[in-house]
Amino acid sequence: MTSSEILEQVAQEVSACQKCILFHSRKNAVPGEGPANADIMFIGEGPGFHENEQGRPFVGAAGRFLDELLAKIGMERSQVFITNVVKCRPPSNRDPLIEELEACSDYLERQIQAINPKVIVTLGRFSMARFLPNAKISAVHGQAMHIRARLVVPMYHPAAALHQGSLRPVIERDFAQLPELIAKASDAPEHPVEVPQEDKQDPEQLSFF
Ligand code: SF4
Repeated sequence: MTSSEILEQVAQEVSACQKCILFHSRKNAVPGEGPANADIMFIGEGPGFHENEQGRPFVGAAGRFLDELLAKIGMERSQVFITNVVKCRPPSNRDPLIEELEACSDYLERQIQAINPKVIVTLGRFSMARFLPNAKISAVHGQAMHIRARLVVPMYHPAAALHQGSLRPVIERDFAQLPELIAKASDAPEHPVEVPQEDKQDPEQLSFF
């Protein structure tokens, strides 16, 4: 199967998925979108109101801010893959539950393996926790780390910057380093295929750039 075919298959499975209770309240599942050969993969938390309506990721105010951030580094949305740790909207935008994160985990894992991005950017606490279960986002945001053979950069969720204006320059600074990180990653040897999900990374094993 090609990467595109795997992504398409994941999207089809997600649209019919009933593995957790979030399928009851969704209008549209939001598997994610972007090119199968994207250098950057953005992983957010979960669909919100507009995403649930349209079946597309980051299409509300936070999405427009994400587009702005991309434009500032000379990139467009069509060049990156954008998805979330849970593919269906939690009711009233509540935090996803552990059982929902676990139920949805395999879809994201298959997307990461298919795309094999040079850089994974986690947006917000829940996607960061997938790679850095014990980290605090205020301490590690913007720091590039090798985690399980992946280059991961945790960042604040764009919605956080919309709610708290002081975070706006912070997320802009964190975004500004992405072109250099991609260039460095392009010079590095190919990433090996992702390791199994249960191989959780301990913070002390991290190597910071
Ligand atoms: S959130 Fe994920 S696991 Fe739950 S129903 Fe949606 S696609 Fe399935």
